[in-house]
Amino acid sequence: MTVSRDLTVQRVRHPLKMRLLQVLRTQRVSSQMLRVTLGGADLADFVSGSFDDHMKVFFPAPGAEKPVLPQVGPDGIVFPEGQPRPQARDYTPRRHDPVAQELDIEFVLHGDGPASTWAAQARAGQYLGVGGPRGSFMISREFDWHLLIGDDTALPAIGRRVEELGPDARVIVVAEVPDAAAQVPLATGPHAEVHWLHREDNAEGSLLVPAVRGLNLPEGEGYVWAAGEAAAMRAVRQHLVAERGIDKTRIRASAYWKHGNAAVHETIDD
Ligand SMILES: Cc1cc2nc3c(=O)[nH]c(=O)nc-3n(C[C@H](O)[C@H](O)[C@H](O)COP(=O)(O)OP(=O)(O)OC[C@H]3O[C@@H](n4cnc5c(N)ncnc54)[C@H](O)[C@@H]3O)c2cc1C
Repeated sequence: MTVSRDLTVQRVRHPLKMRLLQVLRTQRVSSQMLRVTLGGADLADFVSGSFDDHMKVFFPAPGAEKPVLPQVGPDGIVFPEGQPRPQARDYTPRRHDPVAQELDIEFVLHGDGPASTWAAQARAGQYLGVGGPRGSFMISREFDWHLLIGDDTALPAIGRRVEELGPDARVIVVAEVPDAAAQVPLATGPHAEVHWLHREDNAEGSLLVPAVRGLNLPEGEGYVWAAGEAAAMRAVRQHLVAERGIDKTRIRASAYWKHGNAAVHETIDD
């Protein structure tokens, strides 16, 4: 008898809410990744359904204690008049503990940019604003295999997905980071395959496509999730679709940032 599996992906909407949260503690996860644990009463009804979720993180203006937060009205979000709009960037809810009312965000310390600059000086007691997630893209956990591809910015999502799939999952991770010190611990089980790629200082272009090209993918039904720099993600998806013949409905590829551009988020499709 064959047991039917649910291999669908589903979009789930959540009510949009703006939250003012406070840093409880910070912790280095790798040479260039900082985990910031946030808390506060505003987390009471926080929901994050998928590792693929993102939140808009609002940063205080230089010298200000708290970020300016928009209000959610019937026609969308409205920023307070007469005040400069806050800087905001997209981040992954890495871990949410509804009992302890804690939310972890892991920031890549890449250098210039309001988010990276804020994270580099983050300390307990500081305020941060968080909007959303306003929806979740739920990818079934019942695929025979899960290929997770990304650079540093995708590691929070990949780390969460690996934990949620559990130790028995057939997971293949291909992750590009600057060097060995930038690797993060992943809670993979005995059926997992993890390929760390090191850019080092002089690597030209993304190492992801050649590494993915070299993979022997398992038999059965699989799903590919990929996130990272825009051009690299376009190339990865192109390879998977055109050379590997993977069905487009079994791939989700997103640009999490783009060389030379601030605050980029794109879903990569045709
Ligand atoms: C859905 C989603 C989820 C994300 N989750 C995370 C997450 O959990 N953790 C995380 O660290 N990032 C995550 N990102 C990526 C993050 O939003 C971007 O890296 C963002 O641009 C950082 O903002 P910034 O203010 O530091 O730099 P920006 O002001 O946006 O950019 C300044 C300059 O830095 C460059 N830059 C931006 N990011 C990087 C980078 N990572 N490496 C090298 N150069 C860069 C830009 O090209 C630009 O030239 C996510 C993005 C999306 C869309």
